[in-house]
Amino acid sequence: MFEEVIVLKRALYMILVIIMISAFTACIAEEIPEEALNRLKEHCYINPDGGERLHTDQNCRSVHEKYLPLTEVEFSDELLKQYSLCPVCTLADEPQEEPAAPADPALVISEAELNRITAEWEKQYGDYRKWDYQVNAAFVSEAGTLPDTPYVFDKSVLPIMPDEDAIPAEEIAGKAIPLAASYGSRLAEDALKDMQVIVSQYRKPDNDVYLFSTTGSWLISFWDNDNIVAWMYVDAHTGVPSFLNIVPDCISFQGEPGVEGIHYEE
Ligand SMILES: [Zn+2]
Repeated sequence: MFEEVIVLKRALYMILVIIMISAFTACIAEEIPEEALNRLKEHCYINPDGGERLHTDQNCRSVHEKYLPLTEVEFSDELLKQYSLCPVCTLADEPQEEPAAPADPALVISEAELNRITAEWEKQYGDYRKWDYQVNAAFVSEAGTLPDTPYVFDKSVLPIMPDEDAIPAEEIAGKAIPLAASYGSRLAEDALKDMQVIVSQYRKPDNDVYLFSTTGSWLISFWDNDNIVAWMYVDAHTGVPSFLNIVPDCISFQGEPGVEGIHYEE
């Protein structure tokens, strides 16, 4: 009888220890979501050129294009001490799909021919960087691509004329400054108010690449004389911005206003 009580006590003690270990493990797991850890163990990418985050998407949207594709590394706990987790890909709610290999850029037009047509159009419409959505769409229908872009990955991203039910360009231009300021960046409304606003392009890509809506988005640029200061994408039907890039700050806001700005590496 006495021995039975001891065995019972030991059993209870063991159960208690197991519960404590599970609780402790759960605490650690809470710091880094298990989903994120599992994805990192499958594929873990870094920007070896000064990057500070671990990514699960080799072509993560938070990283400046010139550092893409990112470099794959073998995941280790050591990495977790050196790097933080990228909120855009690694901590995203949805598991990332296997990154598709980027399509080979196709030559649309020879560079010489593109430069010749661009120079001709610039005589009439001025600096191509400041063309509005109508000139850009017209140029694409003649040259098959944009100035300075003889190679194109995805032709459906090239600008077209807006859909009839899209919010008119003039209306979007009038709202552009408060929309950009709604991201709460240092580019407050006051700082933007003297800038030239250009409704540069209307895009309607097959995929929602680079936060352009597949039902149509406006691309709006903000200029301080000949310097581009910011650009922004706005859903052409809801009027909600989906992206803001502020050039002097090297910061981009990816998603609707309220998202945290991501500094890209310059
Ligand atoms: Zn990322």
